Amino acid sequence: MKKTGRTASTDAVHAGQQEPRPEGAIVTPIYQTANYVLRGEDYHDIGYIRLSTTPNHRVLGARIAALERTEAALVLASGMAAISGSLLTVLSAGDHVLVQDTLYGGTASFLQQDLPRFGVTHTVIDPQDPSTWAAQLTPTTRAMYVETITNPLVQVADLEAVVAFAREHGLVTLIDNTFASPVNFRPAEIGFDLVLESCTKYMNGHSDIVAGSVAGSADMVRRVKVLHDHLGGSLDPHAAFLLERGLKTLSVRVREQNASAGRLAALLEAHPAVSVVHYPGLESHAQHGRAARLFDGFGGMMSFELAGGVDAAEAFIAALTIPTVAASLGGPESLVVRPAAAIHAGMSAEERAKAGIRDALIRFSTGLEGTEDLAADLIEALASLPRAVAGLSA
Ligand code: PLP
Repeated sequence: MKKTGRTASTDAVHAGQQEPRPEGAIVTPIYQTANYVLRGEDYHDIGYIRLSTTPNHRVLGARIAALERTEAALVLASGMAAISGSLLTVLSAGDHVLVQDTLYGGTASFLQQDLPRFGVTHTVIDPQDPSTWAAQLTPTTRAMYVETITNPLVQVADLEAVVAFAREHGLVTLIDNTFASPVNFRPAEIGFDLVLESCTKYMNGHSDIVAGSVAGSADMVRRVKVLHDHLGGSLDPHAAFLLERGLKTLSVRVREQNASAGRLAALLEAHPAVSVVHYPGLESHAQHGRAARLFDGFGGMMSFELAGGVDAAEAFIAALTIPTVAASLGGPESLVVRPAAAIHAGMSAEERAKAGIRDALIRFSTGLEGTEDLAADLIEALASLPRAVAGLSA
């Protein structure tokens, strides 16, 4: 593990910066050049955007490695490039992977629709019950794949047990850390092998680019890079510049979003029109103790239900004036969505019920607006519901 001895706030601004600074530039310039003069390098080290070897890529790789506390990191064109590329690196035809039951939709589709065509199969495990995992192993099981905080119920798997089990059985561990970001949790510190981020979210934090990262040992990150040199999912230098700019404020943003979300979750939980709030920072959350032990902050994502069900949820969302109705997360704008009607609409009602995603569930991504303004907006939207719609007795 790489330790700079500095805080994430300092690493986010400085780690990996070019020395000497080109022309004295304080900010890494955008190297808008596809290719570079050959210096006799091996193919994978030649200066070329697709090979992720430009100064913009290198600075970001070193910065993200410092933040994740890993030996190395690689930026890629999207979170899905990081996820698909890592799974394809670790798994070969005939291999089997154990995966957590609730996964980001793109990852679940990749596992269900794409990987089987290459002879890679998976089994879904209950991430809360390690005693059931051994029965799912096959002679060809090679890896375990989980997410730090699930979407949209923000559950926290038994992450320490995942690492222990994988070590016992010689499996590679991969974790999608997007919902936490390395400010709140650094999975490599508890032993995960490959840490993946959709940098589209908190890492960049400005809702204006799509990017991804893979962090881990120098050897494993190199293997993902070599595969991606063929797959071609490299990050464009301009997007890399924006990601580097976004990363500089990562710590401040995430700490603010943690604090704001914590206050809003508590406020919602205390409101009579709200029947349940899912937020790892609340003591009522089933894995609060685990989250408090492992994480430095509980994140900006929460989900909740109103006593009045779907009608109340729809009327409440329509009455909000600050949050925008949209998918995604981690930007400055608070976003709200009813997963059953939007991001999880592709699942059958039966699949949603099995995953615990009820039709009335509302997902909320806390942005960077003033907490007081967000709180007032939520309370006023709840107050605007007729008592019958809100599910409150007359
Ligand atoms: N992982 C999680 C948890 C996500 O929420 C997303 C996107 O919403 C992704 C991965 C995919 O990231 P990208 O859209 O950057 O490919």
